[in-house]
Amino acid sequence: MNRHEGVSCDSCLKNNFRGRRYKCLICIDYDLCAACYETGATTNQHTTEHPMQCILSRSDFDLYYGGEALTLEQPQAYTCPFCNRMGFTDTALMEHVTAEHADTTLAVSII
Ligand SMILES: [Zn+2]
Ligand SMILES: [Zn+2]
Ligand SMILES: [Zn+2]
Repeated sequence: MNRHEGVSCDSCLKNNFRGRRYKCLICIDYDLCAACYETGATTNQHTTEHPMQCILSRSDFDLYYGGEALTLEQPQAYTCPFCNRMGFTDTALMEHVTAEHADTTLAVSII
C-alpha cells in the first residue's frame, strides 16, 4: 500500500498519489500532493494561511523515519552511568557512550 487510496489532489487532480499528502484543517475534504503544497496551491476557499496536516502512508512513514518511531514501545531502560541521561536502548547507550564519553576507560565494560 504505497498510495493514498481514494485520495486525489484537489489542485492538480492527480489520483492516488504517492508520498506526503497535505490535508487542510479548515476546508472540508481538501487534499494536496506534496508538489502542490510546496508551490502554495490555493482555491476560492483555500489560502496558504490555512494550517495543513501532513499525512504519510504507512510505507512512506517507514521510508522517511526508517521505522524508528515505531520502536517507542521497546523498553528504554538504560541510564548513562557517566552523565545520568535516561531512556537509552542498549545499542543507543553504546553509541552515546562511544560518542560522548569516548575518553573514559570504562566505556567498553558498562553493558
Ligand atoms: Zn497536486
Ligand atoms: Zn483550506
Ligand atoms: Zn552520557
